[in-house]
Order: sequence, then C-alpha cells, then structure tokens
Amino acid sequence: MKISILGAGESGVGAALLARHLGFDVFVSDAGKIAERYLFELRDKGIPYEESKHTWTSIFDADEVVKSPGIPDNAPLLQELQRLGKTVISEIEFASRFTTAVLIGITGSNGKTTTSLLTYHLLKTAGFPVALGGNVGFSFARNIIENKSGYHVLELSSFQLDGIASFRPHVAILLNITPDHLDRYEYKMENYVRSKFRIAMNQTNEDVLILNADDLEIQNYRKNNPLAARLIKVPAHFENTPSLTVSDAVFDMANCVLKGPHNKFNATCAIHAAKAVGVKNEMIQLGLNTFVNAPHRLEKVATVNEVEYINDSKATNVDSVFYALQAMEKPVVWIAGGTDKGNDYSPIMSLVGQKVKALICLGVDNGKLLKTFSPFLKIIEETKSAKEAVEQASIFAEKGDVVLLSPACASFDLFKNYEDRGDQFKAAVRGLGKA
Ligand code: ADP
Repeated sequence: MKISILGAGESGVGAALLARHLGFDVFVSDAGKIAERYLFELRDKGIPYEESKHTWTSIFDADEVVKSPGIPDNAPLLQELQRLGKTVISEIEFASRFTTAVLIGITGSNGKTTTSLLTYHLLKTAGFPVALGGNVGFSFARNIIENKSGYHVLELSSFQLDGIASFRPHVAILLNITPDHLDRYEYKMENYVRSKFRIAMNQTNEDVLILNADDLEIQNYRKNNPLAARLIKVPAHFENTPSLTVSDAVFDMANCVLKGPHNKFNATCAIHAAKAVGVKNEMIQLGLNTFVNAPHRLEKVATVNEVEYINDSKATNVDSVFYALQAMEKPVVWIAGGTDKGNDYSPIMSLVGQKVKALICLGVDNGKLLKTFSPFLKIIEETKSAKEAVEQASIFAEKGDVVLLSPACASFDLFKNYEDRGDQFKAAVRGLGKA
C-alpha cells in the first residue's frame, strides 16, 4: 500500500507518521516550506518528502492520496488526481480506519474550539481515557498512533469533512451554520451547508447527533434530508443566568469561566455529548467548575484597581463582538479596531448603547469606528499600541467596570496575528501601575 500525502502541516505529518507506523509506503509533498519541527519528524522516521514543489509523477504513483484541508479541490494537481480516478481523502478519514475508539465529532461555523475543549475536559475529569484532536491541538492520526485512548474528541472543519468517506462519529455536534469560507464552495451557501452535514452522513440509529434547533440553515436542510442518528435538538437561546438545565439535571455555571448565552449553548451541547457516552452529572459539574478555555476567547486576564480586564482578541468580526458584549454584566470600556473586513456595525448598535461607556480604538485607520460610534458615545480615544490602549482604558474605567478587548477586526495592521494582539494586551494589563 502506497500513500501520498499533500501538505506537511499537523494533519499531513500526523497522517505520514501513522502510515509509516502501519508499515505503508509513504511520500509527503508540500508546495511550500515545511516547518522545522515537522522536517525533524519526517527525517527521524525516514519518511521521503519534498518541499517547495509537487512532483506529480511521484504523487500519482500512490494507491491513495491524503490531502491537507488547506488545499482547494480546484487546484490543478487535485483536478488531475480526479481525472486519474485516484481516491483523495482527508487525514480524518484515513485515521478513522485504524481505530475502534468512541468518536465524538464537533463542527459548526462558530464555537467549535470552545465546545471541543469543554467536551474533552468533561470526559477527562470523569477519568475517561480521552484524546483531543483534529482542528485543535494534535491531528487525529497522530493521536491514533499510541492507540491508548478509548475516546477521541475531534474538532472538525468543513474542509476536513469534505474529505471523508466512511468516517462515522458515534456522537456528533453541529453547532450552527453561518456563511464562512464560501470561496471554497462556489459561493453557494447550500454547498457549505451540505459539507457541514457530512458529519452525520455515515451515522446510524445507534449514533447521536446533537444539533442547533433554532438555526435556519439546519432547519432547512433537515426538511429534505432525513438523518439516521438519534437527534438531540438544543435550543439556541439562553438566559444570562448562572444555572443551566440539561435534560434531567441542573448545573451551576457560577464558577465556570464560560460566560454569556452563546457559551451556555456550547456547554449544553458538550454536556449532552458527555452524557451520551456515560459521564455522570457530578463529574460534569466538577468539569464545568475546573474548565479553562483556550486563550483569547473572553479570557479573564486580571482585576486591577477593581476593574476587570478581558481578552477577546479572537473576536475578529462583528458577530463575535455581539456575543462578547451580550456576556458582559458590568459597564464596558471597549477596545476595538484593526483591519476592517467590511464591517457592518448595525447588529451591535443597541448593545453598545446599553453597555459601553467608552471606546478605545486600537488600529491604524479608525475612521469607520469613529464615524459609527461618535454620535452615541461621549468618550472615544484613538491609540496605536496595546500598551497605549490599556493605559487609556484604565483612565476611563471606574471601580466595578470591565475593560474588554473585543476588536471586531483583523489584527494585521499593528500585530502579527490575533494571538500576538491578545498577548500584548495581557502583558500591558499585567504592567499596569508598574511604570
Ligand atoms: P471556532 O473554533 O468555531 O472558531 P471558538 O470556540 O474559537 O470557535 O470561538 C470563536 C468566536 O466565536 C468566539 O470569540 C465567540 O465570540 C464566538 N462564538 C463562540 N461560540 C459561539 C456560538 N455558539 N455561536 C456564535 N458565536 C460563538
């Protein structure tokens, strides 16, 4: 059996390591440069590879091709593979053939990482032998090599689902479907919706599908496409209260870091998944109390002079800011701005009016923010660094307020990426008062 692997990122290298572990002939090809840590692993295992090019003949020589989710189907090499009738699959499909573990797959346009991390944490807290992989952390294939985990929680993007054939999650979560990545779907929403629903295509009535009951795209699809799995329909609307009822149990969210109605929805989905594989309510409560989310998502940084600082640097669009503001229970000094992606701020106007007392712009060009919000907000300041923004915010924030970095924009004008922006924000908060 010979496998060609296109793309040497985490999924490609994970697939290569698994294929080698299984004794297959492997060839890895990446059109760009391969990161040092992956080169090291390929060399260490003696796996043949090429970088900065694709040698078509070497790739065509394989029985099967595993493709990185980043490579679009209309790339010339992919078109040629299709013409030759070669099977092209994703690393998720490849890995799933070599495990009998219980699989929990999680997809959606928003909330995948949070829900995957929480589901993993609930199982882990209950003592289940569980691994986390896919779009977050290590690849599924890499996690299979050790083969010690009886349970795998997998964050799945639509691109990973496009490359499945027989992958069948025992428990699947479909959080929501809003327009995203449409450039890869011929700009047709129905193609993107179909891609997301692939998570359920091999499920049987022995499996569980947890889905958003109020999402219109999900409702529409279901009208014409029957689903085999047992359905658990989760309403999307939650009150901003500290308790959460899931089937027969009431959970206390007061000590959980996840804030806001959207996170109650995510938590409900994760709890249903945990219950579906047998996690007990007491363990779920313990898991909720001890959960730590990935950084840069409504992340509490510190309380300085009785002002709370929250880093939501991952909020790079208006939609995310909507959820962040909805989750705030105190008056907000809001830090926003960066590279505008054609933002329409109308969905958050009323929330800004209710909750925001000052806006600190953090970007090279703050024109749209200034124009949009100056009729509503008395205090608007412009800054050009995270340190300056935090200092300005600390001037306007009073005891009991919250300073929220939730930018609604990309970060590339002033920062390397959203992580860099969040890290600089956190460093500036920690430096407050230290002069
Ligand atoms: P993903 O992995 O799908 O990008 P994350 O968990 O990283 O999702 O969250 C990204 C952003 O999406 C968060 O900052 C939050 O504002 C927003 N978000 C999280 N959960 C939801 C949800 N259930 N519905 C809508 N938006 C959400």
